[in-house]
Amino acid sequence: MTAAEHPDIAGALAWARQHIPPLEARLLLRHVLGCTAAHLAAWPEETLPATTWDAFRRLVERRAAGEPVAYLTGRREFYGRDFLVTSAVLIPRPETELLVELALPRLAAEARPCVLDLGTGSGALAITLALARDCTEVTALDDSREALEVARSNAARLGADVFFLHSDWYAALGEARFHLIVANPPYIPEGDPHLAQGDLRFEPRAALVAGDGGLGSLARIVAGAGRHLEQGGWLLMEHGYDQSAAVRGLLAEAGFGDIASWPDLAGIPRVSGGRWQG
Ligand code: GLN
Repeated sequence: MTAAEHPDIAGALAWARQHIPPLEARLLLRHVLGCTAAHLAAWPEETLPATTWDAFRRLVERRAAGEPVAYLTGRREFYGRDFLVTSAVLIPRPETELLVELALPRLAAEARPCVLDLGTGSGALAITLALARDCTEVTALDDSREALEVARSNAARLGADVFFLHSDWYAALGEARFHLIVANPPYIPEGDPHLAQGDLRFEPRAALVAGDGGLGSLARIVAGAGRHLEQGGWLLMEHGYDQSAAVRGLLAEAGFGDIASWPDLAGIPRVSGGRWQG
């Protein structure tokens, strides 16, 4: 990749656009300059300091080689808030906001709702639910200590009161019961061709891939939920595009009622859940 010695903002962006999409080029340049989108638009003739230009060039090269933008900038927005992300956590996806939208009305009737987030990763779901209503008690667990560190720093930065726990699914929870359990577990089958494409190549396998054709973690979550839900409490899980019937089957077999699936913005059944009958 060749480029001018000391380009200005417009020149740097023009160079980057030969290698990566314009939106990504602007995000990466904003990251190295620590500036707003408005600043980039307002000052196209501002010359970049040599160190900034070098840093920008390296990021564009890494992006062109496939690294996710979120890992390069260390940030991703979820439900209107800025979350820190590292390669220890799944990058929060817009479709996971559906879990938040389904969870919130199911907590509205409780004076002090207790919520469990299984496999919290960056903490996006747990923190978003904790911040929605300050009387909500949120427990979030993960079996990756590195992920928990990221989640804890997000909670601290965003001012969310979340209890974090290192645990293999329910293992470390004791007898605790909740009004709602949410999970965005790994659900991609081993050997799925998507794993060799795009951002997924760089994300933690443990956050993406599950055994039993992708249903292994979902099945463990459903099987253990009854011991940790209050009577009438909800279990809501994200899953793959073709897994909704299988997940509803798991819920029915485990004795859940009010079983349903809900579509994401693309119209794909993305979340399934049910209520614990006790
Ligand atoms: N939704 C993600 C994807 O298919 C996978 C996330 C997950 O396994 N929970 O890219």
